Amino acid sequence: MTPRETGPRSLYVHVPFCESKCPYCAFASAVKRPGDEGAYLGSLREEAASRSSIAGGRLLTLYIGGGTPTALSLGAWRELIAVIGGAFKLASDAEVTVEANPGSLSREHIELWRGFINRVSVGVQSFNDDDLKFLGRAHDSGQATEAVEMCVSAGFQTSVDLMFGLPGGPLRDGEPEYGGQTLRGWAGNLRRAARTGAGHISVYQLTIEPGTTFGGLNFPKSALTDGYLPYRYAQWCLPRRGYAQYEVASFSKPGQESRHNLNYWADGEYIGLGPSAWSYIGGVRSQNAQTLDEYARMIAQGKSASVYEERLPPAQAARQAAVLALRAERGIDWRSFEEKHGKAMKDEISEKLNRFPESLVRNDPRRASLTAAGLRVANRVWEEII
Ligand code: SF4
Repeated sequence: MTPRETGPRSLYVHVPFCESKCPYCAFASAVKRPGDEGAYLGSLREEAASRSSIAGGRLLTLYIGGGTPTALSLGAWRELIAVIGGAFKLASDAEVTVEANPGSLSREHIELWRGFINRVSVGVQSFNDDDLKFLGRAHDSGQATEAVEMCVSAGFQTSVDLMFGLPGGPLRDGEPEYGGQTLRGWAGNLRRAARTGAGHISVYQLTIEPGTTFGGLNFPKSALTDGYLPYRYAQWCLPRRGYAQYEVASFSKPGQESRHNLNYWADGEYIGLGPSAWSYIGGVRSQNAQTLDEYARMIAQGKSASVYEERLPPAQAARQAAVLALRAERGIDWRSFEEKHGKAMKDEISEKLNRFPESLVRNDPRRASLTAAGLRVANRVWEEII
């Protein structure tokens, strides 16, 4: 492979398998059928080989997500590493992240990843067993703690995903109804995540997506808790434990920020491989076929697996880049924004941001960013820009 001088230096690889389907999940994932691993890896090998020349040099970040990458067998993992390593070269200090679920992460995974992976993002969601049952997760709180501690003690940069705003509802048959997540319960989750020694914590509000099991349950609106208080509590609690907020949903100890995600928010390019993976190259955003069967069929026919492409008109692309940049604490750098999108778009967006009080938006000639209070109402700012 002869690397190009320009082009994406971030790669996302989607693993489309899960141990079971969580009732709130709208991601492209399914329980593995016999033969699926082989079909996935065979297609991925071809896609990786055919697209590796797009990379603009050695990869700076690689993110293996899903789905549940730890749902792959150890043999499949060896092959996956060989497929990626055979097609792409990584920079010596590349950030290589894998998503792991506590129910399937094993010591064998950790041993196998040494020397290739250096960051693990653990899908804990909660350290409370009732929360986990309600969410239909395939692990309990003990496994969650053990998984995070295993990654930390193995020396990986470790991130914990947590979810807030759980409305309450039925658990499994014969069990009492789950009463919903309390602020006290949420606070306990944050403290427990910090105690594991993980260097990064991401917090997400549960959203009820159409087409999911929860989406068909018609939760009464009143049952969906307002996320404002738990989010605000996270902004208060985590910095006191050494985690600075550097993005709407992300808190990190110094030097443990996700470089892969920072590239997304900086409107940087990336290659996506695997079913449903998105790519963003040369201003074109494209997505692969959603299901493994469709993805494998297209690759077997020698076609690109892409089924959707969009190139935004320049004004829309500029507004989208502004919204992405404002997710992160570093915000918009006006000089580079103007170089890329022009003075008219810079002026339009800056004027819109000036409609907000300084308590929400900082905007000076060099840079614009949201304050902590602004991040709590970020949707209002984005609506104004878009
Ligand atoms: S483990 Fe993650 S990707 Fe898999 S079904 Fe649950 S939420 Fe979706």
